[in-house]
Amino acid sequence: MAGQIMKFVTTSWDDGSPTDIRLAELLGKYGLAGTFYVPRFNEEHPVMTEAQIAAIGRHFEIGGHTLNHLRLSGLSREQAEFEVNGCFHWLANLLGREPVSFCPPYGSFTPENLFTIRKSGFRIIRTTELLSTRIQQEIAPTTLQVFEHERLTYIFHLLKRGRFLNLAQWAAGGCPVSLDRLVDHYLDFIEIHGGCLHIWGHSWEIEEMDYWNKLEGMFRKIAARKEFKHIKNMELATVQL
Ligand SMILES: [Zn+2]
Repeated sequence: MAGQIMKFVTTSWDDGSPTDIRLAELLGKYGLAGTFYVPRFNEEHPVMTEAQIAAIGRHFEIGGHTLNHLRLSGLSREQAEFEVNGCFHWLANLLGREPVSFCPPYGSFTPENLFTIRKSGFRIIRTTELLSTRIQQEIAPTTLQVFEHERLTYIFHLLKRGRFLNLAQWAAGGCPVSLDRLVDHYLDFIEIHGGCLHIWGHSWEIEEMDYWNKLEGMFRKIAARKEFKHIKNMELATVQL
């Protein structure tokens, strides 16, 4: 692809809720690729059965999200290793292949956690950074969460992380906040400048907020852009930059 502008779309879905089955069907309907980050157990939301996870894993990527959906930054090194390593081996046994991507629950991790995640064998770490179009091979930011945040939430989110480029690219589109306008802006932006549109969310939240129609509208717009390449999160590990 040398010399060409790279335009990717990837999606990722956290927590392994049973509503992921509906999400997987919707992705399939529009030919989108996706990565589902699943824990084995989650105190806050029910998780799919292992048979359901394996079924989704036949068409989509399954990534790690710890064993028990715990905030890694609050654990001792031994507990964090148990959660991350245990998750890697649980998924490898369940799927019959080693998982590649990992997403720290609550977007929370320390430099020591990063070391643990890499040592366990994961090669892509998806963060919760928003409004990014960067194609990044190892620590992958996101563009949009399927949740209508307020304008100030985005501003604080980006200022706290010092992401002035994300802020400038968002401002160039008039700081949109509706999912409809956000997806239009980022598709147009990446169309010209290249990059990766990374959409993520929680299917339990899409269900709670009744975002299914909005989500389908986003997928329809994305599917209409034939020049975008659809990739799983794991494919970011092997992109030739
Ligand atoms: Zn989660």
